Amino acid sequence: MPYEYDDQNIFAKILRCEIPNDTVMETDFTLAFRDITPAAPEHILVIPKGSYVNYDHFATDATDAEILDFTRVVGAITHTIKAAPNGGGNGYRLITNAGHDGVQDVPHMHMHIIAGRRLGRMIQPA
Ligand code: 5GP
Repeated sequence: MPYEYDDQNIFAKILRCEIPNDTVMETDFTLAFRDITPAAPEHILVIPKGSYVNYDHFATDATDAEILDFTRVVGAITHTIKAAPNGGGNGYRLITNAGHDGVQDVPHMHMHIIAGRRLGRMIQPA
């Protein structure tokens, strides 16, 4: 079943500049900005500018150029925030939530980059 994209979601409004954001990096295909409710000292959201609901939608329907650009932006930001281990950083975590079980709140594909403190175990035991 094809995905239906809701263009009234909050990230679509950010992309249309209807609401402000704290931009960290922007390219032709990708926007990265600070999360409004940070879970750690560094918490950045990276979104494609295209209308993709979640990661599997993006991975299936985005162009090679969009996917390459998105991946490069995520990687670049790990250096910008000095979290990349090969640059002397202490590391980071990437998270992309999808659907009900992934507890995705905003239905526009996004990657969380979280860093700046030790983050603990990835998933709490059920
Ligand atoms: P999800 O649960 O969908 O993976 O994460 C959505 C994220 O978007 C949350 O971490 C939440 O804090 C963030 N968020 C929601 N509304 C806004 C907003 O208006 N601006 C920014 N910068 N982040 C937002």
